[in-house]
Amino acid sequence: MQREANFMKRMGELLAFHKIINRPEDLNDDNFDDSIVEFQEKVDIMSDGNPKWETLWQLQFPWVQQQPKLSFVKCAADKLPGIEGYEHLWLRQDAAERYNQLRNEVLSLGGVIPTEGGKRDLSEGAGLGRSATSMHYPGLAFDLAGSAGFFKPDTDPFVITLGGSGYWEIWCRAPRGQETKLNALYWDNPTSGIDRTKTVQGKFFSFTKLAAKYGFQAIRPRLSFTRAKDRKYIGCEWWHFQANDLLIANLSQLGIELMRIAEYTPEYIRSANETVWGRKQAIFQQDWF
Ligand SMILES: [Zn+2]
Repeated sequence: MQREANFMKRMGELLAFHKIINRPEDLNDDNFDDSIVEFQEKVDIMSDGNPKWETLWQLQFPWVQQQPKLSFVKCAADKLPGIEGYEHLWLRQDAAERYNQLRNEVLSLGGVIPTEGGKRDLSEGAGLGRSATSMHYPGLAFDLAGSAGFFKPDTDPFVITLGGSGYWEIWCRAPRGQETKLNALYWDNPTSGIDRTKTVQGKFFSFTKLAAKYGFQAIRPRLSFTRAKDRKYIGCEWWHFQANDLLIANLSQLGIELMRIAEYTPEYIRSANETVWGRKQAIFQQDWF
């Protein structure tokens, strides 16, 4: 099994924290399975050498409580005439730093970030277009404004095209962007449900590529959007960007990322949203995307 460098680094830190190995850098592919088994035996859980939900939770739960706490930070956005949205959004401190850098570069190109929000309060339940494991709960995701694109590609601030592997590529209309010809995908209105395309030419930059430079990635559209019948615009998700680069594949867990936030104690999270707490062990890139 090929394990990524950031996975091995954090796992080394966790196993050293639990005194299974002496130093984080002592962990390697040869002693990995044995070290995990030793930890699993120490905390009395099934010892198979394979760090999954319970093992990762036991590794990280005592560790995260000794990590420096992060706060939610208020970030500026662009309120545009005729477009629903907010003047601010809140993000977890580490995501906010990246967002502010992204926004500076967007503004320098003459672009805008109209938004329908970042951090979602735990008191807001899951539902249509709202997953219990949403990256909005720990403040690691932001949404562009859903009415800022997808309906009027000739004038909207954002134009949507098909990217690779079922993802969108989002283009920001900007005076200091590059002259670009785009094959825009759009609907006539939020309930039309029929994909149309047209060629749009003008000055754009790829918001998707710029966001990736600062660690924010897109998600794929949901089934409610891609299915053949009764397609829902809310499932389109072209507007959603999340700070995947702050997480570690096959290791980061939703509950641990929530607990990194000041005042988000296990008791508080459980009492504020039992459904989210029930998914606390969800693993990034396995059952948490
Ligand atoms: Zn979102």
